[in-house]
Amino acid sequence: EQDVVEYKKSLAIRVSGFDVPRPIKTFEECGFSVDLMKTIAKQAYEKPTAIQCQALPIVLSGRDIIGMAKTGSGKTAAFVLPMIVHIMDQPELEKDEGPIGVICAPTRELAHQIYLEAKKFAKSHSIRVSAVYGGMSKLEQFKELKAGCEIVVATPGRLIDMLKMKALTMFRATYLVLDEADRMFDLGFEPQIRSIVGQIRPDRQTLLFSATMPRKVEKLAREILTDPVRVTVGEVG
Ligand code: ADP
Ligand code: MG
Repeated sequence: EQDVVEYKKSLAIRVSGFDVPRPIKTFEECGFSVDLMKTIAKQAYEKPTAIQCQALPIVLSGRDIIGMAKTGSGKTAAFVLPMIVHIMDQPELEKDEGPIGVICAPTRELAHQIYLEAKKFAKSHSIRVSAVYGGMSKLEQFKELKAGCEIVVATPGRLIDMLKMKALTMFRATYLVLDEADRMFDLGFEPQIRSIVGQIRPDRQTLLFSATMPRKVEKLAREILTDPVRVTVGEVG
C-alpha cells in the first residue's frame, strides 16, 4: 500500500492559474512545423514527458509559467520548443537587433547543455544560438554576439559583462527563461538576474523553472511574471 502512495506522489501534477490551456498528450497536438517534428523524431522523443504535456500548451499560448519538476524530467525541451515557435513568429529584420530568446542558467555546464539542446532544434530553422558563459574568451564571445543570433544561452554574470560591453542589445528580446532559478539565487546571482530582467521589455513572455521555491524566488516570480500558470510535477521543494 505504501508503494502505491509513493507512486502517486511521484506522479502528482498540480496546476494553478486562471484559464489554463488543456494539457496535450502527443507532440502532434502542438502544431509544430514539419521540420520541428522531424527533429523531435530524430531525438527519439516518442511522447512528451509529464511536464512537457502540461507546459507546452501553456507556453505556446503565450502565457508566463512557473514550472517545478525534478531533474531529468525534460524541462529543457518544454521551453526550447515553444521558443523556436516564438522566434519563427517574429518578423525578419534587415538589421540585427539582438536575440529574441534569452535563457539564463546557473552554471557553465548547465548553460552548455541547454545550448546543445537549443542548437539541435534551432538548426532546421536556421536560428542562430550563442552561448555566453565563463571559460571562453570575452573577445571571442563579443565577436560572436556582434555577428548576431536569435537565442542566447547564458550564465547571468557573463551576460551582464557582454551587455556592459555592448556586445548585444535586448531591444528585441521577448522570450525570457530563468532555468534553475533557485540555484541561481544560491549562487548569488539575484542582482544580475534583476538587472537582466530590467533590461528586457515588460511585455515579454517569461518562464521560470525551479526545483524548489524559496521565499526570495517566489518574490522574484511575483515581480517579474504576469498572471503565470504554476505547474508542479511530482514531489518537489
Ligand atoms: P531537466 O531539465 O528537467 O533536468 P532535461 O531537459 O535535461 O531535464 O532532460 C533530461 C533528458 O531527457 C535529456 O537527455 C533529454 O534529451 C531527454 N528528454 C527530454 N524530453 C524527452 C521526451 N519527450 N522523451 C524522451 N526523452 C526526453
Ligand atoms: Mg534542466
